[in-house]
Amino acid sequence: LSSDYPVDVDLPAPKELKSSYDVVIIGGGGHGLATAYYLAKYHGITNVAVLEKAYLGGGNTARNTAVIRSNYLTSEGVKFYAESVRMFQGLSNEFDFNIMYSERGQLTLAHTDATVRAFRQRAEVNKHFGGRTEMIDRQQIRELVPTLNLDPGHLPVLAGLWHIDGATARHDAVAWGYAKQAAKRGVEIHQLTEVQDFVVEHGKITAVKTNRGTVKCGCAVQAIAGHSSLLLNKLGIRAPIHSYPLQAMVTQPFKPFLDPLVSSSALHCYVQQTGRGEVVFGGGSDPYPLYNTRSTLDLKESLLAHAIEMFPFLANAKLMRQWAGTTDMTPDYSPIMGRSPIDNYYLDAGWGTWGFKSTPICGKTMAELVASGGRTPELIAPFALERFSTFQQVNEMGATAASH
Ligand code: FAD
Repeated sequence: LSSDYPVDVDLPAPKELKSSYDVVIIGGGGHGLATAYYLAKYHGITNVAVLEKAYLGGGNTARNTAVIRSNYLTSEGVKFYAESVRMFQGLSNEFDFNIMYSERGQLTLAHTDATVRAFRQRAEVNKHFGGRTEMIDRQQIRELVPTLNLDPGHLPVLAGLWHIDGATARHDAVAWGYAKQAAKRGVEIHQLTEVQDFVVEHGKITAVKTNRGTVKCGCAVQAIAGHSSLLLNKLGIRAPIHSYPLQAMVTQPFKPFLDPLVSSSALHCYVQQTGRGEVVFGGGSDPYPLYNTRSTLDLKESLLAHAIEMFPFLANAKLMRQWAGTTDMTPDYSPIMGRSPIDNYYLDAGWGTWGFKSTPICGKTMAELVASGGRTPELIAPFALERFSTFQQVNEMGATAASH
């Protein structure tokens, strides 16, 4: 995905695994690498290994459509994602490396009175908890996106939720930026190193078993996105996660015609134009749980039918690529973060279709959790695994839908 991007990342040459680390981070995607970076940067903890079964940032970090936003529905969600957006804004400076952060604003379309009501609530919650979001009418939408069809067949657009902070960033630059800065501070990053099982003694993880041998650890962090249940099963931890494929696709490049990100949950579709001019289409997860990342004709047909309703002239566009990742969906569309039933095993899971935008804040809060020996930072306390047994779910389904 990134072969045309001049990434200047000199990571130290691969080493032998040491026999023991203070912290083992499982998963070398954006979240695992960010956790390693903030552990080193803010807490001086550098005897850390990031173990990645394939190559860095090759999981969902490489496959996502890079939507960054904080216009969620709950106060817990807005506070958390708004802090991540703030961190993203400073990331290129922090890395001294361009992550191509691009602020374009995100427009979500309302096609029914019920959606207009729900959007009003979202706009108010956003204003209170740190996001910049407002309702706009058809005329304002027309001015923002002149090429948008406001009257698609059965679903005319009534109003829009305009989120000024909506943005994108180059996803692999984010992963490589964190990797480079973590490695510079002494973190070891081991690719082609899969965690396959654990050694648990007296209720604690004492080692992880990998395809390259057993490695002792003071504690472990799980940040493996679409494969969370597989390792949780090894530890006998039950979590309400179901894994679904999520697909996306891009067209041939066009001259710039679309600045904001545009999405419609009624049409199950979002559309954006990249800096290279390609048009990205995405939608909801596939309708069946599966660990296969094949692209399907079904999705292509249903997604493009709706995209063409929004932008009819795209009917003549040629598709260049289609791909998929595996998304770990939770019942309330919020993540599972924090402690687990095993004392020194920390969870960064349940990231479904919405976890790229949270990469910086996940890294920062997970590092705080680990460095404090398990004191949960306030910002992630609502996302604890226990919420499913205490009926304190953080319902973000309406604000996630096809917007990611
Ligand atoms: P990953 O990048 O998947 O990293 C996890 C890593 O763990 C992988 O590299 C994997 O190889 C490794 N791993 C797995 N098992 C093991 C093991 N046993 N041992 C060692 N390593 C292991 N989010 C947004 O915010 N905005 C979007 O627009 C958006 N669009 C998306 C579009 C698509 C098509 C997809 C698939 C996802 C999208 N997402 C989006 C979701 C987002 O991509 C993820 O939530 C996020 O990237 C998760 O980051 P991560 O670092 O946790 O996971």
